[in-house]
Amino acid sequence: SKEDVQAFFKKHAFVLFTVAAVIAGIILGFALRPYKMTYREVKYFSFPGELLMRMLQMLVLPLLVSSLITGMAALDSKASGKMGMRAVVYYMTTTIIAVIIGIIVVLIIHPGKGSKDEFMKQSKIEDISPADAFLDLIRNMFPPNMVQACTQQFKTKYGKRIVHVTVTVNDSVFNLTNLTEQITREEVIPIPGTVNGVNALGLVVFSMCFGLIIGNMKEQGQPLRDFFDSLNEAIMRLVAIIMWYAPIGIMFLISGKIVEMDDITEMGGQLAMYTITVIIGLSIHAFIILPGLYFAITRLNPFIFIMGLVEALITALGTSSSSATLPITFKCLEVNNKVDKRITRFVLPVGATINMDGTALYEALAAIFIAQVNNMDMNLGQIITISITATAASIGAAGIPQAGLVTMVIVLTSVGLPTDDITLIIAVDWFLDRLRTTTNVLGDSIGAGIVEFLSRQELQAKDVEMGNIVLEE
Ligand code: ASP
Repeated sequence: SKEDVQAFFKKHAFVLFTVAAVIAGIILGFALRPYKMTYREVKYFSFPGELLMRMLQMLVLPLLVSSLITGMAALDSKASGKMGMRAVVYYMTTTIIAVIIGIIVVLIIHPGKGSKDEFMKQSKIEDISPADAFLDLIRNMFPPNMVQACTQQFKTKYGKRIVHVTVTVNDSVFNLTNLTEQITREEVIPIPGTVNGVNALGLVVFSMCFGLIIGNMKEQGQPLRDFFDSLNEAIMRLVAIIMWYAPIGIMFLISGKIVEMDDITEMGGQLAMYTITVIIGLSIHAFIILPGLYFAITRLNPFIFIMGLVEALITALGTSSSSATLPITFKCLEVNNKVDKRITRFVLPVGATINMDGTALYEALAAIFIAQVNNMDMNLGQIITISITATAASIGAAGIPQAGLVTMVIVLTSVGLPTDDITLIIAVDWFLDRLRTTTNVLGDSIGAGIVEFLSRQELQAKDVEMGNIVLEE
């Protein structure tokens, strides 16, 4: 009936807007491609998308800190210890499964054919030792200066720009009508472990410890608990407002990218096969493994759960950043899927920072692809080394666009592959990055569902203790 239809639209308005935004973005993007916009024009055109990115990023710092602190403070240390263990076991298991899938598909499909002739881009990337990279990861867990951790990028040995950009402007910069621009591609390669200059890993470690402590502080801790609780609530209200703008931003992010992307028909055969291999690997993980795991543990329909995540998944696709998506992931899980806040507040920020199934799968797969292109056979020992370093590299990668490409240097170095060859796959990375980011967000969200299910006893016990529910005996 008419009421039903209205009710349906009302309930799913956001999801419908978001899906429509993606479709409109794709159509608009392809419609504008023939006009061959200049770099500057593309930047102007996708400005609404850039704004969405900035709004979401703006919330990450306060959201991450306040949700982790309140999340940890809401449970006693025994309960949060158990929950934490479950989350860590989930993160590790799914990441390792992802790496194995990546390795299997790339070995079976074998997209690399032992010749580099068809690749155009080559440049010099400095090697970094895996040991240094690992120490950097641990170092960043303990920022010496908390204010700096919130405002400044941490120098790491491997935070180097990979590609250099030349922008030639043949006229006054201010004379906008008379510009000739020669720009090939701008690659801003971020420093691992940092999110827009925020040392996310360090903040996660600090907030978790801080939350645990104020949770155990009895009355003395009350003002702090109230403060962070209320801060968290306020931020979530901001998120709710930004969500109205999100579909517009996503539309421009997607169409802008389509307008500026290189011609796909020029892509070499190996690169095309490589892209397909990555898509297959990520699909197996996202559509079979993760839903299967969710079903095996909870006996609930995983696809209903995933339906509730559509806005977050699309935001991940649009922003290629799991950190920027974090606010939307929170909303989807708490509002649509009714996952307990004590779980999301804890599992999501940690997951967005360290749990990246898509990235892990991608890094292992890409490393073996580069070996194939170089006609190098990897023995079992090397494959195991790749699995371990790909896992570490996915933990070290920040949830920002193309972070995985940077941490891949560790994986390549560990088995003696030429790190310069990262440039072979740069041309398609913007696209594959979006897909692996979506897989990363899905992994975090399904993790929240699973950890909630496994922790229902602790949650209920706490509810009884707080007098929130009364158990009938
Ligand atoms: N962009 C990814 C993310 O935000 C990280 C990566 O580059 O793999 O999750």
